Parts: sequence; structure tokens; C-alpha cells
Amino acid sequence: MSVLLKAKIAEVFEEPGCDKNQSKSEKERKKGCTKQLSPGAAAGGCAFDGAKIALQPIADVAHLVHGPIACEGNSWDNRHSGSSGPQIYRTGFTTDISELDVIYGGEKRLFKSIREILEKYNPPAVFVYQTCVTALVGDDIEAVCQRATEKFGKPIIPVNAPGFAGVKNLGNKLGAEALLDYVIGTVEPEFTTPYDINIIGEYNLVGELWQVKPLLDALGIRVLCCIAGDGRYNEIASAHRAKVNMMVCSKSMINIATKMEQRWGIPYFEGSFYGIGDMSDTLRQIAKLLVQQGAPVDLLDRTERLIEVEEARAWQRIAQYKQRLQGKRVLLITGGVKSWSVVAALQEGGMEIVGTSVKKSTKEDKEKIKEIMGDDAHMIDDMTPREMYNMLRDARADIMLSGGRSQFVALKARMPWLDINQERYHPYSGYEGMVELVREIDRAIYNPVWQQVRIPAPWGDDGETLGAVLPSARPMDFLTEVAAKSLGLALEEVPN
Ligand code: SF4
Repeated sequence: MSVLLKAKIAEVFEEPGCDKNQSKSEKERKKGCTKQLSPGAAAGGCAFDGAKIALQPIADVAHLVHGPIACEGNSWDNRHSGSSGPQIYRTGFTTDISELDVIYGGEKRLFKSIREILEKYNPPAVFVYQTCVTALVGDDIEAVCQRATEKFGKPIIPVNAPGFAGVKNLGNKLGAEALLDYVIGTVEPEFTTPYDINIIGEYNLVGELWQVKPLLDALGIRVLCCIAGDGRYNEIASAHRAKVNMMVCSKSMINIATKMEQRWGIPYFEGSFYGIGDMSDTLRQIAKLLVQQGAPVDLLDRTERLIEVEEARAWQRIAQYKQRLQGKRVLLITGGVKSWSVVAALQEGGMEIVGTSVKKSTKEDKEKIKEIMGDDAHMIDDMTPREMYNMLRDARADIMLSGGRSQFVALKARMPWLDINQERYHPYSGYEGMVELVREIDRAIYNPVWQQVRIPAPWGDDGETLGAVLPSARPMDFLTEVAAKSLGLALEEVPN
């Protein structure tokens, strides 16, 4: 690992905004916050993956991966991060290095790739991502990017987060460091207003930012930049002129908020767009901080009026589902979306949470869950697929909300399932999103398919699987047994 990268990782592990981090000894802090991976375990993405996930939603820049093609293929466009304009961020650029580059070094190839991208696509900037192989052969992407910036007169940004540096979360932070080192503060905005804010850690998955932006527009609050959903290079470069920063996902890019506070004195707070109550609190918090920073005080009243109208409208629309969903039990296995935000949202829909995973939650997240659910907080640190299956099969939950990887557990138990992780197809943010979430849960629970799949098969008395009822050594025997059972015949009566 290069000296530069080591120093950067040490810097990221020093987090002044986190009490827990600050209470650790220097030695402990160096180990980082996330659990180290066990070799061989399936453990989510690498640091490169994390950096790419964090920055790829910046829509108008070219994201060039310097490494073997598989690194890019691994993570390309696996989230539905929306853009209201440019589409270049969805083009997979890679130097696709070969054995010869490993022997002779891939820096020339990288330089040529940058030139080709600029000539063909002319983006405002190119982000260059380091990967394991090119870091191990010693390619100096910082030097190549600096040379290319001088030669082509466009910002070429090195993102030094090779996979072996650590886990995905560390990669998120190293991606954020690249923005702090090379992007934020390099461009002045055309104009500023007392209502300028940045939203950090929001990726505009399935267009979630667009469900919140109209609310801010209605209050006259301007999103100077969003890091990184539907982001634009120049907006992010001028983010240092915002009056307030809002952190949406504290685990991924907190270093941007803390360092912007140190460098430019921009206050930040952590908020959530999930759930009616949380959305309202977030609007209040933004208004309060803007007023503290010099915005006219009438913003507070206008915010309250908007909240009143929007909450009433959302409740009215949720009411038609609330009766059908009252008392439905939800098993919540969530990774990306903060558990406490979703817990509050589901309770607002009249549902009961029979379990919520807290594997990726911070200490503060857990405290908030306890605050919302009280003694009923069924927090699960880690749940095996078998335990999930048993819970659903024994009907201790009516629906499971989770990421795509656990969906087959629910489907095997013939129970409804809804995707709420980053691969989801429906936006759940803002007041509108809460209505959408309740509507989707209703659609999943009352989908007639569940009744059909739970009807016992004609060849089984209790709906067990074919294999369990008619175990057979050979496929033909198995089919004969099935035919016999369904026709009500003895095995020897079935013609060959
Ligand atoms: S671990 Fe290394 S080789 Fe694998 S995807 Fe990440 S950067 Fe590429």
C-alpha cells in the first residue's frame, strides 16, 4: 500500500464528528470502525466498489476504472441512480489492462484512455478509479491525473481506493476524500442565496431526490449540490458556498460534512427523508439552521404551513390502506436504508415490527430504534437465512422487507416480500414515498398469488414439497410415483 494511501486511510479513521471514534485510543482508531473481513467470506463490496458507488451518481462526468475489466463489470450500474440530464455516468469506461500492462505498467494506457474519453465525449471532468492490480504494479494515478489535467485543461480526478484497502464503507469515505482534495471549493457559483443547502450521502435511487426537491422548491430552498445523486461536477465544485449541509447517510460520507465544517464553517445535521415524521423533522431542521445562518425568519412559519398541508395530504392517502394493514407483522432486514427511519414509517402505516436487523446500524441508530419502539424493540444483530425462513414459515411475520439477496428465503416460505434496499424499483422518500411504501406493502400482502402457492399440491397431503413427499433415487421413478399419487393408483398400476 502506498505511503499516500496509508496516510489517507489514517486520516479517514480520525473522525471528529463521532464520539465513539474520539473516545478510542490512537491504536484502536487505526483499526477503523468496520469489522475486518474474514478471508473467503462473502462480505459485500471492496473499497473500490464503495468509492464507485459513492461517486458514480455524479451524472455529467466520465467514470474511468483503471484495472482489469472485471472490476468495472462487478459494480457497473447496479443501483438505479437517476439523472435528470446527462447519461455519461452510466457508460462503463475501463482501461481493461492486459498482462503486458502488468509487466510494463499501465500509466501510458491510462493517459491515452483519458485523452480518448475527452475527445469523444468532452465531459466536464474524468474520475479515475484505482483498483488492486494497478495499485500493486505501482501505477501512480495521481501523477497521471495531474499530467492529464495540465495537458488537457480539464479536471482529471484520481480516486485512490484500490479494493485491498478495505471494505466498501472505507471506499465510500475514500471517494469522499477525493471530492474534498480535488473538487469541492474549486469553482465559485454564479450566484448564492441565503437558502442554499447541500445534501450529502443521497444517491437519488429510483429518483428519490425528486420526491423531496419539490418540497424544498416550495419553500424557496435551493439545493446547491447533491452528493452525489443527480450531481453535476460544477455544482459539487461550488458546494463550499452552501449555508447548511444535510447528511442523509451518516455512515458513508460523514467526512465531507465534518471537513466542510472545519474548512468553511458550514454547519451540518443528520436527517432522513423516510417516514412522514422524519421528513417533517428534516424540513424543520433545515429551516432552523438556515435561519441561524441568516435566512429571513419567516422561513420557519412557511415550513410549518407546508408540513401541515403535506402531512394531511399524505395521511388522507394512507388512510385507505391503514385499515387493511392494521396489525400486519413486518420482519425488517435492512442494510442501506437506516432501520429507524423505516421503523417509524411502518408504524405510521399501522403495522407491527416483529424484528429489525441492526447489523449495519450505528450505536445512534440503535438508540433511535429503542426510542421509537420502546421495550418492543426486537433488534436482531444477525439472522441466518434458516431463522428467517422459520419465522416466515411459522407465520410469525406477514411480510419481509429486505434486500434482494434474502428474497428467496421469503419466496421459499411462500410469504410476501418487498425490496427496500438500494436495488429497489420504487422510491420511498418524502411524503409521497411513504404513501408509495404503504401501497407496495398492501399490494404485496394482498397479492392473490400467495393463496395459490399455499394450496397443497394434489400429490401431497400437507403442501410439502414433491421431494419430501416422494423421495426417489431416480428421476423416472420419481415421475412415476408422482403420476401414481395424482391418479390415485398403486405404483404397479401405472403403465411404463
Ligand atoms: S477487490 Fe480489487 S480486483 Fe476485486 S473488484 Fe475490488 S478492486 Fe477489483
